[in-house]
Amino acid sequence: MDSKQIQDLINQHPIVKDLIELKETVWFNPEFTTLAEGLPFVGLAKKDIDDARDRLARFAPYLMAVFPETSTTNGIIESELTAIPNMQKYLKQHFNQNIQGTLWLKKDSHLPISGSIKARGGIYEVLYHAEQLALKANLLNLNDDYSKLNSDEFRTFFSQYSIAVGSTGNLGLSIGIMSAKLGFDVTVHMSADARQWKKDKLRSHGVTVVEYQQDYGIAVQEGRKAALKNPNCFFIDDENSKTLFLGYAVAGERLKQQLTQQGVIVDQAHPLFVYLPCGVGGGPGGVAFGLKMAFGDDVHCIFAEPTHSPCMLLGVATGLHDEISVQDIGIDNITAADGLAVGRASGFVGRAMQRLLDGFYTLDDQTMYNLLGILNQSESLKLEPSALAGMLGPVLVHSHSDYIDLHQFTEQQLQLANHIVWGTGGGMVPAEEMQNYLSKASA
Ligand SMILES: *Cc1c(COP(=O)(O)O)cnc(C)c1O
Repeated sequence: MDSKQIQDLINQHPIVKDLIELKETVWFNPEFTTLAEGLPFVGLAKKDIDDARDRLARFAPYLMAVFPETSTTNGIIESELTAIPNMQKYLKQHFNQNIQGTLWLKKDSHLPISGSIKARGGIYEVLYHAEQLALKANLLNLNDDYSKLNSDEFRTFFSQYSIAVGSTGNLGLSIGIMSAKLGFDVTVHMSADARQWKKDKLRSHGVTVVEYQQDYGIAVQEGRKAALKNPNCFFIDDENSKTLFLGYAVAGERLKQQLTQQGVIVDQAHPLFVYLPCGVGGGPGGVAFGLKMAFGDDVHCIFAEPTHSPCMLLGVATGLHDEISVQDIGIDNITAADGLAVGRASGFVGRAMQRLLDGFYTLDDQTMYNLLGILNQSESLKLEPSALAGMLGPVLVHSHSDYIDLHQFTEQQLQLANHIVWGTGGGMVPAEEMQNYLSKASA
């Protein structure tokens, strides 16, 4: 875009100016509507999520066999939900802002296999693909015990096929490890942001890692190109995949069960606020879809992005979706939150979910580091920077009376509310790297 085009965009959408100036900013969605009105635009239904849930259940005996760490949950890849009352106190002090209700952390950071939210969608799409291939070859029946996939016969069968993906790190980790375990020939195309330890870990699992000096968009584009040359290669398309999206969406109903077990009520009188870090959008979009299907209009989803990578906010606020990138308006897409370092949002997710999201905000890398330090001090929990993006959400909801007014939340509702910060990654960060993150916090 030239400077005239950018100025026109700012005139139409004043929020764009804040984004260009890299200000921490909040945008509450004026197009927000009810689930009943918004659902037709998603193009997916509850039965699609149920189908994904059932597929994951079929694979549970296999996952338990090959990843023994999943045996505590019987082969179901699910994370804990933990109340973080000390963090709530620290947040109030640090930001000098009252936060009502109860604050929780959803610990996807500690999901087995890859230690991030990508263990939901990424692994699900690999399993989906493996199942299709095995069913077509008449090697598998839907009623079989899928632990039979843990055999040389199946590994040899899958070794005829390859899988490729472009990633900033965590998606590659999930897809790489899962694909290699099944026997696929797998290649991960890694953007410049990807951490060295993630590449090392993948190579130790026999995954081919191709490194790029450019960002995620280029890694995906090059990966897609390379995969096209091989008819036996399946390219996992993080920017447009409905399969990935549905793998994430299964989280909604599971969270509902966890809340019920903890005696937590979600209804109109007890609203639920969920804060989701957003990169390309598949993870937070899929989870938000699952949450909406589980809790309807009583759940309020807010996405968080780095000031240097606000691709989803930019796409949704301007209505341009994947037709605009942060680089188009002069933003560099360079952030310590490597899981969120995406310059162009998924066009599918933005268009599907824009009416069902309450809002978006951006935050500085330094704010993420500070929150990382505070969480470690208050709760002894260590997450990666990306995973802290959601932690500012409860502060912003309480400090923005325009938002409270827009949704007509009453004092009583705010007192009875629950706030869940989706802790999307960090459980497998090596100790030295974590020490480095912690040293950047100025608390
Ligand atoms: C990938 C990732 C996200 C965001 O998911 P998207 O599907 O890219 O929007 C958030 N946090 C972490 C740690 C991630 O790895």
